[in-house]
Amino acid sequence: MLPEEKNAAVDFIRQKINEDLEKNTYGGRIHTRFPPEPNGYLHIGHAKSICLNFGIADDYESGSCNLRFDDTNPAREETEYVESIIEDVKWLGFDWEDKLFYASDYFDRLYNYAVQLIKMGKAYVCSLTGDQIREYRGTLKEPGKNSPYRNRTIEENLELFEKMKSGEFKTAEHVLRAKIDMAHPYMVMRDPVIYRILHQDHHRTGQKWCIYPLYDFTHCLSDAIEGITHSLCTLEFENNRAIYDWVLDTLQTENRPQQIEFARLNLNYTIVSKRKLLTLVNEGIVSGWNDPRMLTISGMRRRGYTPESIRNFCDRIGIAKSNSVVDIALLEFCVREHLNKIADRIMVVLDPVKVIIDNYPDDQVEEFDADNNPEYPEAGKRKVPFSKTIFIEREDFREEPPGKFFRLAPGREVRLKHAYYIKCESFLKDENTGEIKEIHCSYDPASRGGWSDDGRKVKGTLHWVSEKHAHNVEVRVYDRLFIKEDPEDGVDFRDNLNPESLKVLNNCMAEPGIAGSEPGKRFQFLRKGYFCVDPDSSSDKLVFNQTVTLRDTWAKIEKSSNKQNK
Ligand code: ATP
Ligand code: MG
Repeated sequence: MLPEEKNAAVDFIRQKINEDLEKNTYGGRIHTRFPPEPNGYLHIGHAKSICLNFGIADDYESGSCNLRFDDTNPAREETEYVESIIEDVKWLGFDWEDKLFYASDYFDRLYNYAVQLIKMGKAYVCSLTGDQIREYRGTLKEPGKNSPYRNRTIEENLELFEKMKSGEFKTAEHVLRAKIDMAHPYMVMRDPVIYRILHQDHHRTGQKWCIYPLYDFTHCLSDAIEGITHSLCTLEFENNRAIYDWVLDTLQTENRPQQIEFARLNLNYTIVSKRKLLTLVNEGIVSGWNDPRMLTISGMRRRGYTPESIRNFCDRIGIAKSNSVVDIALLEFCVREHLNKIADRIMVVLDPVKVIIDNYPDDQVEEFDADNNPEYPEAGKRKVPFSKTIFIEREDFREEPPGKFFRLAPGREVRLKHAYYIKCESFLKDENTGEIKEIHCSYDPASRGGWSDDGRKVKGTLHWVSEKHAHNVEVRVYDRLFIKEDPEDGVDFRDNLNPESLKVLNNCMAEPGIAGSEPGKRFQFLRKGYFCVDPDSSSDKLVFNQTVTLRDTWAKIEKSSNKQNK
């Protein structure tokens, strides 16, 4: 089925593919690839590219998508990254079947292609230094100058290139360049370097090679070797399309893929650059690539995001031809929307204060039935124990309640979710700190289950946890890692870090239903948001990550009234 039939809004790439199918450009084949360089962990930007490439393969009957590691730079690449990328693509829900490739597998063939270019008089060994090459390249306004080595004979070039390969030269002593045009309007076409000498072990080929092909030479040829039809990349490669085409046209490869560029994903409050994310990791600003504040795929996984919500987000933002910045609130919305469907509800008090219900029998315990997910009865029910002493959130009590504050206050009645109405009779303060120490209430036995027949209005509903049944848990509450929408707005992104991006709450009280939850298990903490069990949990203490908040209506009211008062 063509995506046209599935989805009214077909993006410009799928339109192009539909045209190619109609014209039979590739004999009915549609073959894409996702080509990460294993020099870091994947981030939300990569998710967009993964969803596009694998999504197209899924949309078309003849569609197919390769996972290819673009591993031509041994100085920055590691096996750890390869493994994390494999795990992340799988977790997102995509399957490359048996089509896992490495550009390094093509080193022999790429070498032969380079030799072919030399023999055609289309490549030469250049012995200028890196600085000289830059100097000779000219500027956007001025043409470059030919290298003095540009007219080496084919024989000399073949001999030198062979010696480069066999290790007779030092790192960077010579390079191989394509012989194109030093006055070309695109800088990338001014005799680009296609091979360089680098005496460094490679994570897959070990010491076999000391020359490595560069991106512009490797990528198009890897696409051709794999029979790729549509090679999708981000807009910054637009000019590189000229060299992509030059290499394939000059070498007359059997397959002739085409490069199409699309807009990269930028999100506000977020950095999507592996190099900068690596800085955050290396400088210990975050706990690692999977720190839940990082919008890496592994960070989002640990934080409790679901693959479905990330895929849905990528669908919603669509594919465009010009760059823009997406609001991170959309990603959070997608996460919330999915978790609402799948997360079990549970009550956890993050900042507990004790409530003693004076007229409740001392040793009595009752169990209330509660839906795991009120919107989906099939999610089942759980029992919530209730007793004389419970915890509620400190912020749910005010000695002097402001207007529109409908929670507990002296003389006020509120509903305890699933349990009873309680009314505040008195409270005790710590003499030194002035902090509320305990609140004394009475309950109405006729309101069992949290409802009363006499029709009296109780506006506030609080979550709570029975003291003697409570499990002490740790909760890590996150805020954005950066305080500015554009973390790089004229400054180093490290100057815009949010000092309050992580708060560790050590003394949270959870209802017993939480016991035994495995890392990765997701919950909605009633009134508090979505949370997910962190791998740091032990058998003594569960640790939770806040995935995303619920929209907190009170915080909004308070914020806007603060604004008005200013
Ligand atoms: P980074 O800038 O984070 O290092 P990159 O482009 O160098 O990213 P690659 O590993 O080369 O990372 O990227 C693999 C694929 O993912 C490429 O096709 C690239 O175009 C795509 N990609 C990377 N970042 C984004 C993004 N922000 N939005 C969409 N696609 C992206
Ligand atoms: Mg790259």
